[in-house]
Order: sequence, then structure tokens, then C-alpha cells
Amino acid sequence: MAWHVRGVVLPDDEVRDLWLVGDRVTFTPVAGAQTIADGGFVLPGLIDAHCHLGIARGGAPITSLDQARALARTDRDAGVLAIRDAGSPYPYPELDDEPDLPRLARAGRHVAPPKRYLRDIGIEVGAAEVAATVTAQARAGNGWVKLVGDWIDRGVGDLAPAWDADTMTAAVRAAHAAGVRAAVHTFSESAVEIMVRAGVDSVEHGTGLSLDLVDEMARRGTALVPTMINIRTFGGIAEQARAKFPGYAEHMLALRDRFPEVVRSAYEAGVPIYVGTDAGGGIDHGLAADEMLLLHEQAGMTTTDVLAAASWRAREWLGFPGLVEGGLADLVVYAEDPRADLRAVRDPARIVLRGRVVR
Ligand SMILES: [Zn+2]
Repeated sequence: MAWHVRGVVLPDDEVRDLWLVGDRVTFTPVAGAQTIADGGFVLPGLIDAHCHLGIARGGAPITSLDQARALARTDRDAGVLAIRDAGSPYPYPELDDEPDLPRLARAGRHVAPPKRYLRDIGIEVGAAEVAATVTAQARAGNGWVKLVGDWIDRGVGDLAPAWDADTMTAAVRAAHAAGVRAAVHTFSESAVEIMVRAGVDSVEHGTGLSLDLVDEMARRGTALVPTMINIRTFGGIAEQARAKFPGYAEHMLALRDRFPEVVRSAYEAGVPIYVGTDAGGGIDHGLAADEMLLLHEQAGMTTTDVLAAASWRAREWLGFPGLVEGGLADLVVYAEDPRADLRAVRDPARIVLRGRVVR
């Protein structure tokens, strides 16, 4: 069965006819194809570029593939047709080609410092073992590794880099030597500086970025996945920590409060920004639209740039071709123009994944 879709195709902004044959797109008419959308605005399927399918609600590792499937379907039904998993304590390479699940770009387990990161989530290693662990986790994922660049150091009473700068630089080098890209979690000013200068491929959160550093990221082409939804939870984290770690609590609140300006500066400097929700643990799946609206309303990204950050530009970054001849038959159709009113992305009229009609 072939499908026919007609509508304003973004980013080209032209009314076009697409045919979906198997899991591919063609502009050559296919006789007998059934029309499944006529009118509306057609986008290459959305991406959640920072998502965790291996972490259950509440923060514990999942214990079955079915749990990962259920989380992935929640994202899919919101129009997210490819996911970059930013660290999973539960390996699920079996799901890479599952027909009704979003396409996957996966990191292995988080590589984290000892006894500091979220319980049971990362592989916790001292400086001497970091590079070898990165090499092993590069094989566990399919193109990415995830480094935890900083976390609270209870001895210091504040955020602190996970390891010394030489070790963190060696971690990035080990990822690249293994042929994968490295994503790094950072909240603090000090860790993000080390990691950007070490040549990391993407900064996750990046609350500690300075104006100088965003210029450096733009120069290098380093990506930023701000996860603004996550940063809004810093208030709760700070309140829980305040009695024992007042300095940390104040630091987290300050990072939260300046974050919209940080993302705005990165955007204005030309840093490539992508939509990621950080779903898993404390944040629900299926919230890509919320993150898109935050990037527009709080960080001043234009609606078209937000759509690019969630769709065609993110797909290109992660290697999932969009609506081009021979591209992937993954698309979302909206009745209203999301460039005119971004809230339209909350309500996909049609979702097609791998050539299969999901909605
Ligand atoms: Zn995360």
C-alpha cells in the first residue's frame, strides 16, 4: 500500500504532493495510492534530542523492553518520530528497528563520577577508568556517548566538575576515537567551559554558559540542547537541598533564573540549538510541544527556528533524512500553520512513522 500526502511542506513552504512507499518518500506519483492528508502543513517527523527511554517515572531504571516501548509510544503519539536517548541504564538495542517505534540515536549508559550521580543510572568510574569506560559505552550505544560533566560534590557543598580537566578532555577524545559523538550533562560554569574547549559535540542543559563560551560553541559548531522543561524543576531541587547545602541551593536558583537569557544568547550567537525534553525520571514523555513553546516564548527563538530545531535541522544533525526524494516516510501534518501560531504543534492531525499511519 502506498500513501499520498498533499499540503504545504516545510521547510520549503510549497504545496507539494508526496507519496510514501514502504518507509521512503518519493515525489514521483504512485498509481492507486490512497490520500491520507490533503491540506494542512507537513513537517518531517519531530525529534526529541534529549530523552531517556531507560529511566522509569520516579527515576529507577526500567526493567523490561516493554517499558521502553510504552514510553517511546507516548513520544511518538506527540509527533516525535526519532529520539536521541541521552543515556540509558537499561540497554535496548533490540528496539532500533521496531516498526511502530520512533527511530533511535542512542548513547549507552551515562559515564559518571563515583557516588555523586543519580543512583543506579550511570556507570560510576574514577579518573583512571573514564576513557576505557567511554570506549566500552560507545559500543553499547549506536552513535553517542553520554558524559556526566558535573554534579553536586557534597564535600564542597556545590556543583563541581566530575573529574579533572585532563580526564574530561580524554573522555571526549576516547569517544571520537571510537567513532561516536559525545554529549555532556553540565549545569555549572566550570564544567561546561572544560567540555566545550575539549571539543564535546553537544552540551546538555548548559545552564553555566557564558557569553564568551556561546561564541566559542558557535565557532566550533557545538550543539546546545537546553531542556528548558528540566531547568524549571531546579526550584524543587534547591528546596530539597537547602538545609544541608545552602550554597548549592542558591547556585541552582541563580542558574535557573538566568537560563532564558543564556539560551537567548546562544541563539543570537548562532549556536545550533535542538529540542530535548529530558523525559524520563522526573519529567513525563510526550512534552516536545511544551519545550518548543518555551524556546519560543522564553528564549526568543522564532517559530520557524523552533520548528527547525525540532524537525528538519535536528533530523539532519542526527542523520535521519527528512521529506526529500528517497527520504524517510516519517511526517506530521498540522491543520494550522505552526509558524503563525506555534501552539498548533500540540495537535497533530496526522502522524506517519516508517510509512505506517499512526494517527
Ligand atoms: Zn537527561
